[in-house]
Amino acid sequence: MRLIQPRIAVVGAGILGSAITYSLAIRGADVLLLDEGPKPGCGVTGRAFGWINVINGTPGRASYALWREAVAEYQRLKAALPEALSDARPGSLVWKATSRETEQLAALHQRAGEDVELVKRSVIAEWEPRLRQVPECAVFSPNDLALDPTRLAGRYVAAALAAGASARFDAKVGAIETANGRVTGMRVSDRTLHADIIVMAAGNAINMLVSGLGIATGVETSPALLLRYACSTPVVTRILRCPRLEVRQADDNTLFVAKSYVENGAEDGPQAIGERTLAVMTDELDLPANVMLASADVGNRPIFADGLPRLGFLPQVNGLYIAAGHPGVILAPLIARLTAEEILDGRRTDLIPGPECVPV
Ligand SMILES: Cc1cc2nc3c(=O)[nH]c(=O)nc-3n(C[C@H](O)[C@H](O)[C@H](O)COP(=O)(O)OP(=O)(O)OC[C@H]3O[C@@H](n4cnc5c(N)ncnc54)[C@H](O)[C@@H]3O)c2cc1C
Repeated sequence: MRLIQPRIAVVGAGILGSAITYSLAIRGADVLLLDEGPKPGCGVTGRAFGWINVINGTPGRASYALWREAVAEYQRLKAALPEALSDARPGSLVWKATSRETEQLAALHQRAGEDVELVKRSVIAEWEPRLRQVPECAVFSPNDLALDPTRLAGRYVAAALAAGASARFDAKVGAIETANGRVTGMRVSDRTLHADIIVMAAGNAINMLVSGLGIATGVETSPALLLRYACSTPVVTRILRCPRLEVRQADDNTLFVAKSYVENGAEDGPQAIGERTLAVMTDELDLPANVMLASADVGNRPIFADGLPRLGFLPQVNGLYIAAGHPGVILAPLIARLTAEEILDGRRTDLIPGPECVPV
């Protein structure tokens, strides 16, 4: 029996670090969460669209099986921590340029065992009466969720604190400290904080933090754009994704649109894309007159070349654990449970590859 618990530090209070801290804390671990920002969700998590889904995955790929597990994990989270998902909206409607393509999309996911349904024009018109251009059919995914990732990160942290974890914000980790090949702590401001195990959940900053140890994790940066529009009335109920638009609406009526993004000068900058997207939205949806672009933010998604996340202890440094990858909001509850099981019970998953770090 272990008498003294290891001190675990989690670096990064994005969706991954917040969820991991919660999973460790409810299992009784001694855990400290650190973030350089003033509150949870200040990194790319604060710029995420918040779509928990399998429908955007590709059946047959390893990531598809992973996404299915991850969406199922949300049901467990709902049972364990109902307040975390109290404002999540269920269901999405997806359609392609032609009905044939939409039918093929539904059939593809149904063959893979997904609970999706092809719904007809009359149903779509009844469910989403503000749609101006109602398609002949759409794929309805009843188990999808639309949620606010920052709020979820905050609720994870609140529940972790209630379970005995501690957290420090405005605390930038400058370096990882090691001795004899194992973690001893971290440099925060001009102090060293002791830790036996460090979970690196710092998103895009992971490489910078581990580069001081002479290694690189292979995490890359992939930008995407989150547009927020102030709106005074309810417009859409579910997440809608059609060839020109991916939109959801929050309880305060803010409309969220996610776009891919390539840096390409002011004309194709975030603001200009936001204004053009408003014109597309006005075409697709019966909007009230006063809808306005409120913000247009680029978020840098931490991603690996094969599209899979990475989870596990670094082979080079005892006690240093990496948790990173895309799509972090979908994966967070699953990654959190798997991390806690590996660190606390020594149970290694075969669902997610371990980090393959190379010398820099
Ligand atoms: C437009 C857009 C739409 C998206 N839509 C979705 C979606 O619908 N579904 C989905 O699953 N994913 C989506 N994503 C991806 C998702 O945002 C990311 O996968 C996820 O947020 C990554 O979370 P994270 O916790 O790993 O990183 P982050 O949220 O970046 O968290 C890392 C944290 O580490 C902290 N940190 C960094 N360096 C230090 C340091 N030195 N010391 C202390 N703290 C530090 C940062 O402040 C930050 O809070 C989207 C992303 C974008 C941009």
